Amino acid sequence: MDLNALTQKLVEELTPLSWEERITHLRNYAELFPAFSTSLSYDDQAITHVIAEEDIPIRVFAIDTGRLFEQTLEVLQKNEERYPNLQIETYYPNAEKTQNLIARQGINGFYDSIEKRKACCFTRKVEPLARALEESQIWMSGLRREHSDNRGDLPVAEYDAGRDIIKIYPIIDVSTEDLRAYIDAHNIPFNPMHDEGYPSIGCAPCTRAIKAGEHPRQGRWWWEQDDAQECGLHVVDGKLVRAKQTTNNQGLL
Ligand code: SF4
Repeated sequence: MDLNALTQKLVEELTPLSWEERITHLRNYAELFPAFSTSLSYDDQAITHVIAEEDIPIRVFAIDTGRLFEQTLEVLQKNEERYPNLQIETYYPNAEKTQNLIARQGINGFYDSIEKRKACCFTRKVEPLARALEESQIWMSGLRREHSDNRGDLPVAEYDAGRDIIKIYPIIDVSTEDLRAYIDAHNIPFNPMHDEGYPSIGCAPCTRAIKAGEHPRQGRWWWEQDDAQECGLHVVDGKLVRAKQTTNNQGLL
C-alpha cells in the first residue's frame, strides 16, 4: 500500500471534521492497525476518552520510561478504573540497554551533555516506541499547533518516510481552553500537576514548572534549550521531536 498517497487522502478526509470525528473516522482504517501513543497528558486523555467511549479499534499505548512522575502513573491507574474495557499497553525500556546506559553515563548523566540526554531518550523512549509501532501503519498522537513554535503549519496527517508510517494529529488545531472544557464536561481523569504550573509533563528529572506567560517548552530540558535547536531537536506539545528541516524521521521522545 502506498502510505504516502493515502496520507493525502486522509488529510482531505480528516481536516474538515471535528477532532472527535477525526478519531472515530479511523474505524474505516482498522486494517492499518492504528496506534495512539499517550503521554497521559490532559490532551491525550481527551483522545483516550473518545477511543474508549466510542470503542474505536485503535491500540492505545504508553511508554513508562522508568523516570515518570508518580502522578503520571496514577493517571494510568485511573484510566484502568474509568475505562475497564480499554487495555492501555505499557512499553518499557530494554533492561539490558538501560543497565548499559547507566553504567556508561550514570543515573542522571543526561544533564551533562546533549549527546548523553539523547542517549537516555533513545534508550528509554525511542527504542520502546519503535517496538510499540512495529505492527502499525497509522500512528496517532496529541500534537497541537498551539504548543509548537516552528510546526505551526503541521497538517492533520503527514507521512513519516523514515518510519514508513502515517502520523495523525486529531487535536492539531484544538485550543487548550477547548480541551480543558471537554475534560471537565466529561469528568475525565487528568494529572493534577497540570494545575500546578506543568502544562507539559515528561520525565521527572527533565520537567519543571513554568511561570505564567512562559512557553510550555520552557519547562522541558530547560538546561539545554538553546543548544537543542542546533542538534535538530525541539519540543512540540510536550514531546521532544526532531526538527522538520533536519529529518523527516520525526520521532516522539
Ligand atoms: Fe532520560 Fe530525561 Fe529523556 Fe526521560 S526525558 S528519557 S529522563 S533524558
